[in-house]
Amino acid sequence: MNIMVVGGAGYIGSHAVRLLIAAGHQVTVYDNLSRGHRQAVPDGLLVEGDLTDRARVVSVLRECKIEAVMHFAAFALVNESVADPALYYRNNVIAALELLEAMREAEVTKIVFSSTTATYGEPATMPISEDTPQQPINPYGFTKLVIEKALADYASAYGLGYAALRYFNAAGAHPDGTIGEDHDPESHLIPVVLQVALGQREKITIFGDDFATPDGTCLRDYIHVEDLASAHLRALELIEPGKGVCINLGTGRGTSVREIVEACRKVTGHPIPAVMGDRRSGDPAELVADNRLAKELLDWTPKYDQIGSIVETAWRWHQSHPNGYAT
Ligand code: UDP
Repeated sequence: MNIMVVGGAGYIGSHAVRLLIAAGHQVTVYDNLSRGHRQAVPDGLLVEGDLTDRARVVSVLRECKIEAVMHFAAFALVNESVADPALYYRNNVIAALELLEAMREAEVTKIVFSSTTATYGEPATMPISEDTPQQPINPYGFTKLVIEKALADYASAYGLGYAALRYFNAAGAHPDGTIGEDHDPESHLIPVVLQVALGQREKITIFGDDFATPDGTCLRDYIHVEDLASAHLRALELIEPGKGVCINLGTGRGTSVREIVEACRKVTGHPIPAVMGDRRSGDPAELVADNRLAKELLDWTPKYDQIGSIVETAWRWHQSHPNGYAT
């Protein structure tokens, strides 16, 4: 299939590109490189452009005879979305709507959309299923929910077929160590902890140990980026015109911040000094997926079911690329 991967130079998108190519698809990456990395894209696949340039998007969709789009291009930092919501509404909502309009114009009728656990906010019950009420508590979550709603409306009005995949905590890197996570500044737990092991930071600050969890630190559902990517391929196969599905992508297992630090100590052999800090605002105690729908609909199960093996792939990437793609 001819597939346009929007945001294919980013962390999750670049892993999907690799997998799509391996599965025999023809891939065009459309990315404005605002946060993505040229080096993450295989030679010859990158079209540098912005989604707000609708005419350009339409012409690429037509020229490359695109049959389906995967849309990974979005900003995804909760704190940043609170501090600068305009950035998020522009990039995650306006640009995404422009993409949908370009697809309509070029008659491309299938899309896989990157959604998020942040659309659920702070759910009262765990684990989180697709029926859990979506009540986002920050602009990032709102922007993703807006596009989920738009997709549903486009499906019923214009016959769009879509899958909205709600990621839990993406983690890890390609097992060959050539692509991985590279954010500037980095704020995600596993890369930050591994930066301590690399000697780039003195210590890790644990954001709160007084949560109502077994060890007092937050529980998250860390899902390997390769498992996320493989779910996209499966989702693409089941998209039907005029219909949409929303699916959680997680392992169904919660890992605490302390357990992450411990797993990183084991994998790296570094003592990784940790200090307790204040809670980060808006951090729910626990976010764990009920992933039964993904297993059932996508015939998918996460290959990386141990946090140690996820950390190992991340460590391989960070060791060989201590400064990310800049090395
Ligand atoms: N966290 C932490 N110290 C850090 C970064 C993150 O204790 O330096 C915690 C954070 O409070 C959350 C978990 O690690 O409970 C995962 O945070 P991350 O930013 O990686 O992902 P999020 O869950 O916010 O999407």
